[in-house]
Amino acid sequence: MPRRRRYDEGQDGEQVMKIAVSACLLGENCKYNGGNNLSGELARLLEGHTVIPVCPEVLGGLPVPRVPAEIVDGTVMNREGTSVDAAFRRGAEKALETVKSARADLIILQPRSPSCGVKQVYDGTFSGTLIPGQGVFAELASRSGFRVADAEDVLSDRILRIMYYEGIMDRIREAAEQAETDPEALSQALPELRELEAYYSGSEWKEDFAADEAGLLPEGLKRGVLSQDGVWNLLERFRETGQG
Ligand code: SF4
Repeated sequence: MPRRRRYDEGQDGEQVMKIAVSACLLGENCKYNGGNNLSGELARLLEGHTVIPVCPEVLGGLPVPRVPAEIVDGTVMNREGTSVDAAFRRGAEKALETVKSARADLIILQPRSPSCGVKQVYDGTFSGTLIPGQGVFAELASRSGFRVADAEDVLSDRILRIMYYEGIMDRIREAAEQAETDPEALSQALPELRELEAYYSGSEWKEDFAADEAGLLPEGLKRGVLSQDGVWNLLERFRETGQG
């Protein structure tokens, strides 16, 4: 049974989640090669929530760029054969302190990283081979009771998926209001409207609705998108304008 909790309320009374995110996913150039993993899909999901960037490896004192590392028999080693385990573990502890003091509701992490990987990591042979497992920070955060999600699971993790479509619904509602003065607003919203329609008419919406009915969603998770009437009325509003 998932932990049920109430999220903070924003200025307009809506629930605001505090979400810790791998800093590289937010566009920070903290990757081993000096680059980032900016994700537009994730940025859309995070809109309206409080975001806490964390890079455990930088927090552990590692430089950017740095020699890539993998977990070899439980110890983090870089490709040159030097142990960087202490820095990785120090960074994971510091990142844990950050998410604890921010009271993060959720942590979204970069896949496959020796620090941040949630489901898979490289096998320690530096050959690109993946094995089931978690990075040092992901493992520590999960063990400490945090809900940890893989950034590639935005549409397959139920909570992330509901947040994602909830954001789309908010933007479409906003576009419908703006359309009174700016007819272009509706046509700009069309791609997201199609996404919402596909979700609403597919099996995932039914599964999410059933999970809500069964009390499996965290209390306070914003979930207007699971209101049949709410989505139907919004789609109808577009159909009336000839855009739906
Ligand atoms: S430690 Fe995590 S946040 Fe930092 S660069 Fe690696 S994957 Fe990104």
